[in-house]
Amino acid sequence: MSKVRVRIAPSPTGDPHVGTAYMALFNLIFARHFKGSFILRIEDTDRTRSKPEYEKNIFDALKWCDIQWDEGPDIGGEFGPYRQSERTEIYREYCQKLLDSDKAYKCFATPEELQEMREVSRKLGTRIGYDRRYRNLSADEIKKKEKEGLPYVVRLKVPLTGTCEYEDATKGLISCPWADIDDQILLKSDGFPTYHLANVVDDHLMQISHVIRGDEWISSTPKHIYLYEAFGFKKPTFMHLPLLLGADGKKLSKRKNPTSIFYYRDCGYLKEAFVNFMTLMGYSMAEDKEIYSLDEIIKEFDPKRTGLSGAFFDVKKLDWINQQYLINTIPEENLWDRIKAWGMNDAYMQKLMPLCHTRIKNFGDFMDLCQFFFINNIPHVTKLLCPKKVTPESSAMILQGLIWHMEVDDNWGKEGVEEASRVCAEVFGVNHKNIVMKILFAAITGKHQGPPLFDSVEILGKDRTRARLLDAITFLGGISNKKMSSLKKMWDKKDCSEMVKKEEAALTT
Ligand code: GLU
Repeated sequence: MSKVRVRIAPSPTGDPHVGTAYMALFNLIFARHFKGSFILRIEDTDRTRSKPEYEKNIFDALKWCDIQWDEGPDIGGEFGPYRQSERTEIYREYCQKLLDSDKAYKCFATPEELQEMREVSRKLGTRIGYDRRYRNLSADEIKKKEKEGLPYVVRLKVPLTGTCEYEDATKGLISCPWADIDDQILLKSDGFPTYHLANVVDDHLMQISHVIRGDEWISSTPKHIYLYEAFGFKKPTFMHLPLLLGADGKKLSKRKNPTSIFYYRDCGYLKEAFVNFMTLMGYSMAEDKEIYSLDEIIKEFDPKRTGLSGAFFDVKKLDWINQQYLINTIPEENLWDRIKAWGMNDAYMQKLMPLCHTRIKNFGDFMDLCQFFFINNIPHVTKLLCPKKVTPESSAMILQGLIWHMEVDDNWGKEGVEEASRVCAEVFGVNHKNIVMKILFAAITGKHQGPPLFDSVEILGKDRTRARLLDAITFLGGISNKKMSSLKKMWDKKDCSEMVKKEEAALTT
């Protein structure tokens, strides 16, 4: 086998996802077992959603897991740069090669035309949304349109007949008719590449031997296969791993589960246990051994033991594994030091002092007042979550509104939560102080009074705050998909007053 070179290629468009740790660990183990290299590439071609702070969070989260890469944007390497926004010239050059060899074409479709095509395709029930109307323009027609300064994208000339076939290293032969594949956009009108072009060009130039990624990318692989062929590049081996599923068997989603790696760090899980748990997702050790070190799995690794179906991200299992590590790797005499280092360190405790200074009668009151800063499971109380005569359904919707508002600007700090609470009062047409604040207070603390709420939320941090709001929604009975979509529509119109079943005056006064 030629030298093994594998990579993860996260996009810095949100919180560091547990799925990134899952892929990173599998790739790392694969690389180490086969004495290869593990590369971190940042795919930040989505210019509106990519943010430097999200990139930093990816680095920090992977480092918390003790995952070390051999090449990457922060440490460089022979095949850099490793950040796609620094490689745009390369993609344009490669795209030109495809245009020159007639494997791609310029498409001048306007947004209106595209909309119209989508409607037609929806009516006809066809898989292809774009009808390829610019695929066969003559050179003169293209020149004329360019002279007029019309914007265009570059699309891949996907074969119209035949079948795409490839051997997936875990799933075996995968095939699909070419006719089902859209003429994928490769270069956007602003000259930036799409994921597909940049991903294939980089995997080739960085000499990636195995593309190991989640099942959600399977539908993109035929496009990639064709790109490799069109460029005349040697194809890597593809290996798709099962999706992470929640304990309910459905795709793990941030709408229902905490998916940020930082959440697990902040809740006080041990990194070794978290890593062990994540490696169980796509792989099972011989004799179904469940507790092992990274070194052990690297040594024993056998690609044949890679999972084929859903990987259950079951927090109960994580709890069990964590407890095993706690008992077996932290001697009693070190326990207090570890707890201190986690969340009872000076820096954290000092943050709480201004909040409790005038609110305790004796030191013994401190824990009672501040326990919600440390515990993971808030004991919810229906009566507190449903002040006045708010129904559990309405309360859950208000909590959902709070999440939506804080998500918009990703502002979960003091000002963000304050603004969200005011906006929610307005949008739902309920009293701010007596309804929204009470619901929020109960969701975060499990109590009806305590330290100032906005400061507390800022100290708790985004991930734990978000998880508590979600948890309270679940406790209140959840929001059905149907209700969620009508709520979202009204939320976007900034008027959800009809959604809350008002015992009229009680809510607004
Ligand atoms: N940028 C993609 C992601 O966000 C990479 C997928 C792949 O590994 O090809 O996960």
